Amino acid sequence: MNQYLQLNGITKFYGDFRALQGVNLSVDKGEFITFLGPSGSGKTTTLMIIAGFEKASTGDLLVEGESLSGLAPYERNIGIVFQNYALFPHKTAVENVYFPLQMRGINRPEGLKRAMRMLELVGLEGFAKRYPKELSGGQQQRVALARALVFEPSLLLLDEPLGALDKNLREQMQIEIKRIQRALGVTTIFVTHDQTEAMSMSDRIVVFEKGEIQQVASPLEIYHKPRTKFVAGFIGESNLIPAKVVNPAGKADNEALGACEFTPGEPVSEGQDVTLLIRPEHIRLSRKPIEGRKNVTMHVETIVNYGDNALVIGRVGNLPMRVRVLGADVVIIKEGEECCISWLPDAVFVIGR
Ligand code: ATP
Repeated sequence: MNQYLQLNGITKFYGDFRALQGVNLSVDKGEFITFLGPSGSGKTTTLMIIAGFEKASTGDLLVEGESLSGLAPYERNIGIVFQNYALFPHKTAVENVYFPLQMRGINRPEGLKRAMRMLELVGLEGFAKRYPKELSGGQQQRVALARALVFEPSLLLLDEPLGALDKNLREQMQIEIKRIQRALGVTTIFVTHDQTEAMSMSDRIVVFEKGEIQQVASPLEIYHKPRTKFVAGFIGESNLIPAKVVNPAGKADNEALGACEFTPGEPVSEGQDVTLLIRPEHIRLSRKPIEGRKNVTMHVETIVNYGDNALVIGRVGNLPMRVRVLGADVVIIKEGEECCISWLPDAVFVIGR
């Protein structure tokens, strides 16, 4: 792949407060990258530095090998969509989309034609003459997207663009945005604190915490091979179990579980304190131990039913455990009972930090 955007050692201070610390990242051409992290972790600040609305305290930003530092936002050929779509209320949808072209000196007939084509692409061909207040939230957000894309930017930045929409509309827009991004092949950076959104939309996810990047990887790698305890806990549901390494090739010990085999991840050493990750859906629940698996007895405290599946929350000794089971399996146990839970060694992933 072609490297397109590069962030080299970006740091940002607001007075004494360090909002970003040594952010390094390279983004390929046409890639869909998501910045994911809790509130205040530095996602928007990084995006604003890329857009040129904020200046990095140190570090450099390169696009196709050229530094962007001296360029004003409007010189960067970047399309941006924010959560509060900020359409011009006194302009119709098509006039809103035409605006960036007008700013770039494109004549009105040609500009309106291009704006109409873009409205078609976002599925709003019948809504061109409507004013923003005559459009739903999702439709307004599509106009904002069309406006960000109409001048064929080389980079699209989306900052929580779906935050204000309800769940169904949000899911529909996620699919739409992916479709449009693929159709245009535009390099895209999407900011969200919603992990399912990040998992379903991205080629790669960048996980931020406290102004630092914790991991950059594909959604599946982030889910199955988190590099840090923070990433493991932030993405998906997890059982995070403190343990001590007995054998770096794959054995650790936890007080409640006893000896536990694990899948080696990053190298660990004998005697090291580590965290074992077991996803709740990788644990089976049964009346009796199952041969070939690690079996322990769990005291069941709470069962939360979701219809097609259930979450069983309980304890092994004093270790809290969560098990996700298919709806029918949960029938075999009741709250307050003891049951057997089991897993295979390859369901246990070791995290050194
Ligand atoms: P959210 O999901 O809430 O938008 P975020 O990950 O995008 O969070 P940022 O907006 O990048 O977080 O903020 C990172 C940190 O920098 C926060 O602690 C925030 O309070 C601080 N910060 C952001 N802008 C400023 C500013 N103009 N002055 C001082 N501190 C700021």
